[in-house]
Amino acid sequence: MTIYVMGHKNPDSDTIISSIATAELLKQRGLDAVAVKQGDITPETKFILDTFKLEVPETLISVSDKEIALVDTTELSQLPDDIDNAKVLFVADHHKLGGLKTASPLEFYGQPVGSTATILTNVFVSENKSIPANIAGAMLCAVLSDTVLFKSPTTTNWDKNAVEKLAKIAGIEKPLDLGLQMLKVKSSIENDSATDLINRDFKEFNIHGKKFGIGQIELIDKTMADDKKPAILEEMKKIQANGEFNTVLLLITDIMKEGSELLVVSDDIPSIENVFGIKCDENHCAWVDGMMSRKKQVVPPLETKL
Ligand code: MG
Ligand code: MG
Ligand code: MG
Repeated sequence: MTIYVMGHKNPDSDTIISSIATAELLKQRGLDAVAVKQGDITPETKFILDTFKLEVPETLISVSDKEIALVDTTELSQLPDDIDNAKVLFVADHHKLGGLKTASPLEFYGQPVGSTATILTNVFVSENKSIPANIAGAMLCAVLSDTVLFKSPTTTNWDKNAVEKLAKIAGIEKPLDLGLQMLKVKSSIENDSATDLINRDFKEFNIHGKKFGIGQIELIDKTMADDKKPAILEEMKKIQANGEFNTVLLLITDIMKEGSELLVVSDDIPSIENVFGIKCDENHCAWVDGMMSRKKQVVPPLETKL
């Protein structure tokens, strides 16, 4: 039986590359495995797949009666609707546990590191399996993407060590140069609509019974999004209304300034301001110095302070 390897909806580079790496790991164990995705890939992921000559995974929406390996999420709102009817055999993830339940014991790799690709690097090493050079190169990019070139507070020594190992395997002399090239691709947003930009990296969360949608755009310079902000705000209001969200947040992260502009659309803006100690301007916007990570700096305060 084929094992389908998948990550979260609105797949980012870590989700796609970790799916490919896990499929490779399972194949090296003699199993039949294939990487799949839920939704379109981003320009950054396309750049990585093109650079290392890897195929774009097929899209899989329904997983009923299938055997599944999950990477980069266990959040029910980010998994297929019929995940309860699938058999989850394997999980590798670096997020908080997100409500996934299984009927049988499973193989589980969880660690609070900067990327799922970091965890998988260590699984390959611990099993004495060799990572093909092109997959190693792509995994290196996934680590650098999720850790924002090691600038995110989610970065650990595990991530730095993984990049060192992967660079050797892939024959990449200057990983950070490649990372910067990748960030430039990610930052070219001239042709993206407000909807594209918000959906590129948008995740749903259920926090104390309330529905949150939190997106993030990472740019070399946040002013690149300035002329699109009014349209983005309008689109966020539409998403809030149509998706019945209590709150829709968007982080426009400035990688060089190491902080984020937080756009807030909510039925209770004062509570959100209170959580982050901010005051939004008339455009629903506030600069938060040092805020780089949704996982570590946005979701936990909402969980504990709301
Ligand atoms: Mg991810
Ligand atoms: Mg990740
Ligand atoms: Mg991310």
